[in-house]
Amino acid sequence: MRALVVDDSRFIRNFLHSLFAEHGVECMEAADGKQGLACLRTSGPFTVALVDWNMPVMSGIEMVQAARADHDLDATKIVMVTTEAENDHIEAALLAGADEYLVKPFDEAGLLDKLRMAGVDEL
Ligand SMILES: [Mg+2]
Repeated sequence: MRALVVDDSRFIRNFLHSLFAEHGVECMEAADGKQGLACLRTSGPFTVALVDWNMPVMSGIEMVQAARADHDLDATKIVMVTTEAENDHIEAALLAGADEYLVKPFDEAGLLDKLRMAGVDEL
């Protein structure tokens, strides 16, 4: 399987990249929503995209909305990753088309759990 990590934090990108690598998952990275969207369109298909909420240039929620408006990308599961745990944030992410929601800080078990809940069953 292939995963796309979209986060402006290099630390989070490296952390997720390492976790995916341990599970034999090919992982690509993008540092903002605009890059992430371009990656989905030109370097796909991806099994899953993990998308940070707060990023420069294009936020995660804008990226998810744009990705879900593009039906070529329907097969990619999207997990929103953020520090915001409030219900209205979670609702907004799901309304925008995210399949699941992962709250920072998270560990490996938390990530794998959310990936399964999002329908990623290749791990
Ligand atoms: Mg961020």
